Formats: sequence, C-alpha cells, structure tokens
Amino acid sequence: MQKGAELYAGKAKTVYETDDPDRLILEFRNDTSAFDGEKVAQLERKGMVNNKFNAFVMDKLAAAGIPCHFEQLLSDNESVVKRLDMIPVECVVRNIAAGSLVRRLGVAEGMELDPPVFEFFLKNDALHDPMINDYHIRAFGWATDQEVETMKALTFKANEVLKQMFLDAGILLVDYKLEFGRYQGGVTLGDEFSPDGCRLWDAESRTKLDKDRFRQGLGGVVEAYEEVAHRLGIELG
Ligand code: 5GP
Repeated sequence: MQKGAELYAGKAKTVYETDDPDRLILEFRNDTSAFDGEKVAQLERKGMVNNKFNAFVMDKLAAAGIPCHFEQLLSDNESVVKRLDMIPVECVVRNIAAGSLVRRLGVAEGMELDPPVFEFFLKNDALHDPMINDYHIRAFGWATDQEVETMKALTFKANEVLKQMFLDAGILLVDYKLEFGRYQGGVTLGDEFSPDGCRLWDAESRTKLDKDRFRQGLGGVVEAYEEVAHRLGIELG
C-alpha cells in the first residue's frame, strides 16, 4: 500500500490518503493537547503507545462484533484504517462521575453511575464541543435516527467489553469518547480508543492513569499509559 497525500492534520493524529480509495493511514503523533488546543506539549513515545493501544482495543471490539475501521498496524506510529464518512458527534459513556459531568451538575467526582450515563457532544473546537441531544442531531441532519440508535447501541456494547477488560487488569473504566462514521451503508467505529480519550483509574488507589494527568499537570503521562498497556498485555516493543 502506497502512502499518499496528507488529507487532514488533527491535534494528535495526521490522516493520509493511500492508493486504495477505501483505505487511509492514521499517524499517531506525540503532540498532546487539552482544553480545545489551549494546552499543548510533545510527549515522547505517546504516538507509538496510543497506536498500539488503539490496535489492541479495536481488535477486542471487532471480536465482540463491533464494526471498527482499524485494519492493521503499519509501523510503530501508523495504522491502516477504512476510510469512513465521519459523523460529527462524540459519543460519551460514563460509569463514574468525573470531568465535565462533575463541573456541569456539581456532583461528587467518583460517584458510581448505575445505569451508565450516555451523552452526545458536537465535534466543534470553536464552540468548545457543546453537549447536544438526539433532537439537535435530527434537526441539523448530522445523522439519521437509525444512525443515532446504532451509535448508542455500539457505544454501550463497547462499555460491556471494555469495562470488564480493564477491570481484569485492575483498572476502572470511568468514561470514554467514541466517534463513528459511515462505511458501505453501515455505522463503523472510527477515530481511536486510547488513554487520550478515556478516563482510567487504578481500581485500588483510584490513581489517574489517563490524559487527566496531562490536563491536571500531574506528570508521568506516558508512563501511566504504558502502565495500563503493560497490565493489558499490550506489546509495545
Ligand atoms: P468530559 O466531557 O468529562 O470532558 O469527557 C468525557 C470523556 O470523553 C473523557 O474520557 C474525555 O477524555 C473524552 N473526551 C471528551 N471530549 C474529547 C475530545 O475532544 N478529545 C478527546 N481525545 N477525548 C475527549
């Protein structure tokens, strides 16, 4: 497969075309950002860790029957993926209160949410990714009702798979964000699943092992990601 022109550079990944119109190459960079790009840094090894983390998680989700865009690792920090027509919404599931939920509703961080909470956000940095609901998605035509139902169902299905997978490694899956796109008439999981887009706490100590270490200036960001990868048995090389 030939790597083609750069298609799009996001805050942490660059997307390249290939000689196959149905395939793209994702490059996971060391760039790390928070607060809609206001806080940025280069974190050594992060691109490689997230690329391999994402490959491992997407393989697990695909094995559980969730259609995923990930196809194969191409190098330490590149993967081949299916080319999706991305739906511009973020799907968040929360098992434990943290982050923006705590700020918005004034609830205590760490409160268990049973059943889990589902939220949609519009993917729009300029508007600071505002929270939206099914009615906004329908009114503005961002996705069909059927796509909305499929995104919800797949995000909850991922929760069952991933909550247990992390718990088996002594880690609580606090919350996470997924993004979907259209592929050959169906809805497929796109983007990435890595500690950049979820919250992971040690089950005993509740130590944060995710991007909140960067957001909150706690240090040891990539070391924490590597600790999670190690506990899951991910080969980092
Ligand atoms: P919150 O709404 O609490 O800020 O985020 C909920 C979850 O979704 C967290 O795990 C957070 O990392 C993830 N998340 C929300 N928005 C984004 C985003 O724009 N980029 C990334 N990488 N993760 C996000």
